[in-house]
Amino acid sequence: MLEVTGLTTKYGAISALRDASLTVGAGEVVGLIGPNGAGKTTLLGSIAGLLPIDSGTIRFDGNDITSGAPEKILRAGLSLVPEHRRIFADMTVEENLKIGGVTRSGAERAELLDEMAELFPVLRDKWDTPAGYMSGGEAQQLAIARALMSKPKLIMMDEPSLGLAPILVDLVFELIDTLRAQGRTILVVEQNATRMLRAADRAYVLRSGEVVATGTGAELLDRSDLFDTFVGG
Ligand code: ATP
Repeated sequence: MLEVTGLTTKYGAISALRDASLTVGAGEVVGLIGPNGAGKTTLLGSIAGLLPIDSGTIRFDGNDITSGAPEKILRAGLSLVPEHRRIFADMTVEENLKIGGVTRSGAERAELLDEMAELFPVLRDKWDTPAGYMSGGEAQQLAIARALMSKPKLIMMDEPSLGLAPILVDLVFELIDTLRAQGRTILVVEQNATRMLRAADRAYVLRSGEVVATGTGAELLDRSDLFDTFVGG
């Protein structure tokens, strides 16, 4: 479904991503792990059209979306849950969700709102509350629900467990399992490498902007060399 080939993205003279390639097939949960500064966020931002890429190609659902405008990429069916959630604190839960569904028709948006209220009971309970009043775990669920409101074919999540208490980290991984069971396609960046490898069908390890290992979650969990050298956790 997603095919990234030879992607290089630079900040000025520094290559944050070098010749990175990855694929995500329909219905797969694919993890992207690696130490701080490895280029994980840069890779998701490059795919989502948020960063100008230097070279490489990105194909999604049979189309070339390389260097497409973010809105066009969203409309093509690729949605991003950004790092640090980036929810709109002054807007209510419902308003945040409606923004996520801006590319859908009114009737579809109403259906999606019902679906999100069902999938995230905590959001249903705080429907009219400004999102700024929510806890970190609630805000993360809102950020994921907002991304689902565009009815994406592929959802990308950037560090969804970051800064959450252990019980909420469990909740995030349970949610990933639920979304997988619904047949959704997910690409997740995670610092929590061990948990991610257990949750993922396949994963990629990034280091210093390069993909240095790939395999099934189980295969990579067996690679103690990776963990000792640079993955950590
Ligand atoms: P983290 O887990 O810390 O978010 P990451 O793997 O997501 O790390 P990136 O945020 O993609 O890594 O950063 C990759 C490299 O690019 C790092 O060396 C970082 O310092 C650099 N970088 C990121 N954003 C910028 C920017 N806006 N300007 C200059 N350099 C940047």
